[in-house]
Amino acid sequence: MAGLIAPVARLIEEFSKLPGVGTKTAQRLTYHVLRASTDDARALAAALVAIKEEVAYCSICCNITEAGVDPCDICADPRRDASRICVVEEPLDVLAIERTGEFRGRYHVLHGAISPIDGIGPERLRVRELIARVEGGSGEVQEVILATNPNLEGEATAMYLADLLGPHVAAVTRIARGLPVGGDLEYADDVTLIRSLQGRRLVER
Ligand SMILES: [Zn+2]
Repeated sequence: MAGLIAPVARLIEEFSKLPGVGTKTAQRLTYHVLRASTDDARALAAALVAIKEEVAYCSICCNITEAGVDPCDICADPRRDASRICVVEEPLDVLAIERTGEFRGRYHVLHGAISPIDGIGPERLRVRELIARVEGGSGEVQEVILATNPNLEGEATAMYLADLLGPHVAAVTRIARGLPVGGDLEYADDVTLIRSLQGRRLVER
């Protein structure tokens, strides 16, 4: 950007890469950091690096976990019902469902959804790991709940998974509509989320 000294332009550029952050916001954040104390700026930088270095993925459910803690707390908890797996798109969706206290099974995090427009096919998601869990569990898994987002990508992902998982598990269910269409699970309020879990239906094949 013309007239900007290099370090300022650089931080604006980095902030602009964040989702939902336009140039204006990136500039505002940059000047905020500029005015902040050196300690605060260091803390921000350290937190950014730590999230890459100290966060790992659970080898069972693919959710994020603290580095060195594998399986994650939920997978390691013997009180959780291993016969039910709730499949979600993102780690934030696990938090949203956990907040409701409605689900006592385990999770599987796909880290995205199928989106042909963006060139994201199932091979880019943690699908293989999910199949392995369902196939390898010696019939332990009785139900797979597809809790992908109620939008185009989420529905396409749910349909794809229902076909794939159908032969291997007693029940494949889809959370009920009632969640705002086109919306994100993580933004749904608790009551809506609880109703949608309770109202889940068998996927017709
Ligand atoms: Zn896990």
